[in-house]
Amino acid sequence: MKKTKNHEEKKEVSCADKKCPIHGTLSARGRTFEGRITKKFEGRIVIEFERPLKIRKYDRYAKDKSRIHSHLPKCMQEEVKVGDLVKVKECRPLSKIIHSVLIKKIKEGIQ
Ligand SMILES: [Zn+2]
Repeated sequence: MKKTKNHEEKKEVSCADKKCPIHGTLSARGRTFEGRITKKFEGRIVIEFERPLKIRKYDRYAKDKSRIHSHLPKCMQEEVKVGDLVKVKECRPLSKIIHSVLIKKIKEGIQ
């Protein structure tokens, strides 16, 4: 008796984007960041996240905001909106300000 593997039906949204980590040749490696989308452009998103900043004088942490620009692959262009919580990963520098790429959506934003 041979075991038959269940083929999982993945929704294949292929794209011609070379800078897509799934369909293209871009390899995402390095640090990952999680944050909310504050701005969305064609092929680019701006995400914002908070990180703790240690203040030595008081030995406490303050909140500091960081904003980074990420590449938005064509296959995920419709999927994400402003306000969504997403995960981005570092990759090679794609332009002067973009050095990360969107890899997945974590949570839908409140509109
Ligand atoms: Zn793609």
